[in-house]
Amino acid sequence: LKTPLAVINTSVELMERIKDPERQKEKMTAIKEQTARLDKYIYDMLTISRLDHAPDLLLRTVDVNRIMSDVHERLHSTAEKKEVNIILEPASEPPNVLADESEMDRMMVNLVENALNYTPTGGTIWIRTSIIQENVQLEVKDTGIGIGEKDLARIFDRFYRADTARSTKISGTGLGLAIVKRIVEMHGGSISVESEPGVGTTFRV
Ligand code: ATP
Ligand code: MG
Repeated sequence: LKTPLAVINTSVELMERIKDPERQKEKMTAIKEQTARLDKYIYDMLTISRLDHAPDLLLRTVDVNRIMSDVHERLHSTAEKKEVNIILEPASEPPNVLADESEMDRMMVNLVENALNYTPTGGTIWIRTSIIQENVQLEVKDTGIGIGEKDLARIFDRFYRADTARSTKISGTGLGLAIVKRIVEMHGGSISVESEPGVGTTFRV
């Protein structure tokens, strides 16, 4: 929280002093970026705090295939811009779960956004649902940068980001997967991950 705020503060101070409109514009861009970053931090922190202390789940029968197409609908243009291919592989029968729909949506968005963020141009993402006995399984698989063994143990920790992620241009809070894990566990589910650096990652809920 302090880092983006510090950038905003210095940018504002500089804007008051510099006359060059080009440089003023640069500072304005920095302020906008850091404001967005702060906004996401606060939003994610409020989300995880609510999930910890007052989850208030609204349980209904939810078709995970429908959540999958909703999420795809909202993210496919980002994927197209990045030239990343998203392939949907829905279970042939509706994979119904008793769940809070908006939390299921949040869980899936976080996983697919990660796949998008950490998969370079030309890559592929598969979103797959299946019914295995009494369970519904969701898989989000990508051909992205992958996660090293040392990081794999920590990616679900709050605020943790691998060095490989921090060295990309993508800024993040490191709260996404903590939120995902919390949602999955609140629904009595489990989550696992398999990854190979430079090859890709699969999250399985
Ligand atoms: P945000 O909170 O904004 O989502 P984030 O994406 O960095 O930020 P998480 O979603 O919690 O945070 O992910 C934690 C870390 O796990 C990432 O920083 C990255 O290092 C790693 N990671 C997660 N998903 C993937 C993926 N699909 N491919 C490679 N690395 C990943
Ligand atoms: Mg994320």
